[in-house]
Amino acid sequence: MTQTSLPPVPASGKVYLIGAGPGDPTLITVKGLQFLQKAQVVVYDYLASPKLLAHVPQGTELVYVGKKGGGLHAKTQEEINQILVDKAREGKRVVRLKGGDPFIFGRGGEEIEELVEAGVAFEVVPGVTSATAAATYAGVPITHRRYTASVAFITGHEEPGKAVSNVDWEKISTGIGTLVFYMGIKNLPHITEKLIANGRDPQTPVVVVRWASTPEQRSVEGTLETIADIVTREKIKPPALVVVGDVVRLRQTINWFEKRPLFGKRIMVTRTREQASDLVAGLEELGAECIEWPTIAIGDPDSWDVLDEAVGNLPSFHWILFTSINTIRCFFKRLYERGLDSRALGNLKVGVVGTTTADELKKHGIVADLVPAVFTGDGLAEAMVATGVAGCRILLPRAQKAREILPEVLTEAGAEVVIAPVYRNTRPQVETAQLREMLAERAVDIITFTSSSTVTNFLHMLGARDPEELRTLLAATRIAAIGPVTAKTAEQAGLTVDIQPETYTIPALIAAILQDSDRTP
Ligand code: SAH
Repeated sequence: MTQTSLPPVPASGKVYLIGAGPGDPTLITVKGLQFLQKAQVVVYDYLASPKLLAHVPQGTELVYVGKKGGGLHAKTQEEINQILVDKAREGKRVVRLKGGDPFIFGRGGEEIEELVEAGVAFEVVPGVTSATAAATYAGVPITHRRYTASVAFITGHEEPGKAVSNVDWEKISTGIGTLVFYMGIKNLPHITEKLIANGRDPQTPVVVVRWASTPEQRSVEGTLETIADIVTREKIKPPALVVVGDVVRLRQTINWFEKRPLFGKRIMVTRTREQASDLVAGLEELGAECIEWPTIAIGDPDSWDVLDEAVGNLPSFHWILFTSINTIRCFFKRLYERGLDSRALGNLKVGVVGTTTADELKKHGIVADLVPAVFTGDGLAEAMVATGVAGCRILLPRAQKAREILPEVLTEAGAEVVIAPVYRNTRPQVETAQLREMLAERAVDIITFTSSSTVTNFLHMLGARDPEELRTLLAATRIAAIGPVTAKTAEQAGLTVDIQPETYTIPALIAAILQDSDRTP
């Protein structure tokens, strides 16, 4: 993505009214994202994905102004307008982030009118409105040559008893092909009744889509005659959209989003936040909803002495070995802090534990000399011994506490191994009640473990009183372990491992989860 330089903020500040898109945080526009990345204040409400806030610079002031359906306004519209004017007058670059498109049932127009009156500069960035997103993600092209030549966006929020309606039911009922109702869940019986009474065929297909474009999306289908009852029975709550029209029939053919293989599966990822992204992205692409529950946080080692001394003496080593992405990241962080770079390793051979670590190493401009056939510490030990390590000095940066097998095997084969701690695994301080609640509610289909410590820490955080309670809490949850060591730790702790790939990589783990879900729909 090219980063265009943004114009300077006028001394009097400026407000950027930005459409956040319908829910999936990656559906924001490039322009919207660029403004967000430069924001000094962000004023947002509940329909804008909170994940978008990860893009704002550190120190940006975040103002939540609420606004849930059903009239529960955390701040009144007047208060919101005032906040925008005040913050801009402080000379700030203010982003007003709104769900969907700001000018479609978003009161964006009213906010801008206030800004104009107050003489505040502004810009508006449109967004993907939830109507088009809901239709698309429910497998419905909102127009189609065979079915309709017109579409209308309508508010479903009007009180049924209102004396003069802003909606011309007579004309829209038969005059327009596709009808999309925003905020229409509460009034759905009234809406369908009005459409039928004004001449729309009661058999017209309807789809109702909740939280469109997010992993929580749910949709139900019916006809004008049946949909209100279906929505009540299936307990569909706002935010949801109602799409009415013959185009809904195309869902039979086109429903792609909900047909992805892991759609509807909730998968817990227990590795560190820093490491979770590959696994999360892979699972989400297949339709899963990931719950990030880091069981490990990375901290500095108690002392850097061993590493610093080794780094001061790198020419005396023959090999350096990396057994995880974390060791690579933490090693290089320290190296750079000391004013050095990859060239300091110029005379060393480099071994890694697998292809993922090899890729991480490449980011620092180094191609590994040795990647074992089996991606474990044992595999690396075996491959190293096969190269003949007698008399070699080997630097092994790693976690402060780690398995001893690798250095033991190398020492036995005649090498001199220097173990240099570059990080320390700690347990994140979190509320465990929420974890127990999620499991008790059967809200987790699969838990993924990618190392022994993820297992141990997870169980510590869960704090089951006895094996019986542990079994009960995990009764509806399948356990996935990345490799045999992790699986063994899990089994020794009383868990049953249901999913385990043959090679110990993230893509293989994802593939194994996919295979398992074919067997357990
Ligand atoms: N400006 C917004 C609409 C705000 S009105 C836009 O352009 O999308 C609020 C209504 O939008 C909700 O009651 C619901 O009908 C709809 N809505 C917003 N996001 C939605 C989503 N992800 N899924 C389904 N409906 C959504």
